[in-house]
Amino acid sequence: MQDCIFCKIIAGDIPSKPILETDDIIVLEDIAPKAPIHYLIIPKKHVVDVRAFESDEQNLAGNMLFAAQTLSKQEGDIPFRLLVNNGHEAGQRVFHLHMHFLAGKDLPTLF
Ligand code: AMP
Ligand code: ZN
Repeated sequence: MQDCIFCKIIAGDIPSKPILETDDIIVLEDIAPKAPIHYLIIPKKHVVDVRAFESDEQNLAGNMLFAAQTLSKQEGDIPFRLLVNNGHEAGQRVFHLHMHFLAGKDLPTLF
């Protein structure tokens, strides 16, 4: 999609060094990390947020979780937090679905 930073990265228009890449996902290091390990698990298909997921994209949703498992295993089975902001009021700033993978320190309890 035009004017989408993640689509430009996925298309190769902006250079990047993916941590992991599969047929339908790439994983990037967050440009402004909020934890010692902060990855973004991003579907290659432009989906705005979880609300826009189509029922035939259930595999993609599952594959995003399995990517998180792979990332954890790569780091020796480390504990991690997954976070998805859906909508501006929820803190989303890039409107191409992405899952934050946060790890590498004791994370503050949210609830
Ligand atoms: P969100 O607020 O959930 O939309 O998160 C967007 C995230 O994307 C933020 O943590 C940004 O630091 C990150 N980000 C924005 N541009 C880039 C980029 N070019 N490469 C990697 N991460 C980015
Ligand atoms: Zn996009």
